[in-house]
Amino acid sequence: MSRAPSSPERAALHAFIARHQRFLLTTHVNPDGDAIGSEVAFARWLRAAGKTVHLVNDSPTPRAFAWLADEGPVEVYTEALAETRFAEADALVVIDTGNKQRIGRLAEHIGRHAIAVAIVDHHVTHDGFGQVNVIEPECAAAAVLVYELMREAGAAIDEVSAMALYVGLATDTGNFRYSNTDARALRMAADLVEQGVDVSEVMSRVHQSAPPGRLRFFGEALSALEMRHGGQLVVLEATPEQFQRHGLSGADTEGLVDLPRAIEGVEAVALFSEVEPGRVKVSLRSTGRVNIDGVCARLGGGGHPHAAGVMLRGTREQARARVLPDLERLLSELPPASAQAAPAREAGA
Ligand code: 5GP
Ligand code: MN
Repeated sequence: MSRAPSSPERAALHAFIARHQRFLLTTHVNPDGDAIGSEVAFARWLRAAGKTVHLVNDSPTPRAFAWLADEGPVEVYTEALAETRFAEADALVVIDTGNKQRIGRLAEHIGRHAIAVAIVDHHVTHDGFGQVNVIEPECAAAAVLVYELMREAGAAIDEVSAMALYVGLATDTGNFRYSNTDARALRMAADLVEQGVDVSEVMSRVHQSAPPGRLRFFGEALSALEMRHGGQLVVLEATPEQFQRHGLSGADTEGLVDLPRAIEGVEAVALFSEVEPGRVKVSLRSTGRVNIDGVCARLGGGGHPHAAGVMLRGTREQARARVLPDLERLLSELPPASAQAAPAREAGA
């Protein structure tokens, strides 16, 4: 190792890697840039160390990260594929979530196989279901953790891994704008650029891959935005009819909930996205003064203080009734904005 692991949990993870040979990697449902980027870099690290590695995720990869997932390659869940991959592996590494439910249908396979589990995550909400749990909420992205673990192991960060880690870091920090952007994240970015990451090339791959329907859909959702609670709360909705008409999937809402934070005086944004009839994905964001993760955690979801989510069964109306009163109560408890210093902007998935 080129550096001493900075915690007993990290040392335990290095030992976990050393004592296993055939790895299966996965991440949360509806994977984002951090999930895919961290998985791809982790897989390349393990392969370079002589391990066998497969990657299987519950959900398909969003278009923006498909080029990166090809480097895994990341396979998408089927019952038969998961059975095969679990049977082949002696270790499972779960990245960017520490919540068993969040890995979707893969969770059911864990109990059926003699497989050791390690978690590498940066979320506050977790159930630590691994034998080894490296969970560090102070990391801006799971990619920060993977990068530091690779450094500790003395692993080479090749060009693809550098791009993968950069995507994770840049997407989870909102391109280095959210309050999770710290010196550590920026130093890591600088190091990755020194390793050969072409920032404009990588970011154009991520941010210039939308079909026109996605912008038309954003336009519709934004023009219907509701201002509530004296302008402190923005509510957005997306309907199954809109997804269908524009030829989009649930992953295509990515980024939508972040846009109303640009409105002056907004403290929180809620998006109720009915991906299919009777299933509503709730996404909450805070511009920095309210912590909204508790609202989602109470309903079985979670996330970070300023970016959280939960999937609810029922209508959009029912989802609103379960979320908005709690959110408005939090906003009522806020001191007047003028009594504060300029609020920090934030999120980070
Ligand atoms: P997003 O709203 O972008 O889907 O998610 C924002 C943050 O909340 C991310 O950190 C994500 O991992 C977390 N999150 C979203 N949905 C869920 C959920 O259903 N359960 C939990 N535990 N976290 C979620
Ligand atoms: Mn993340």
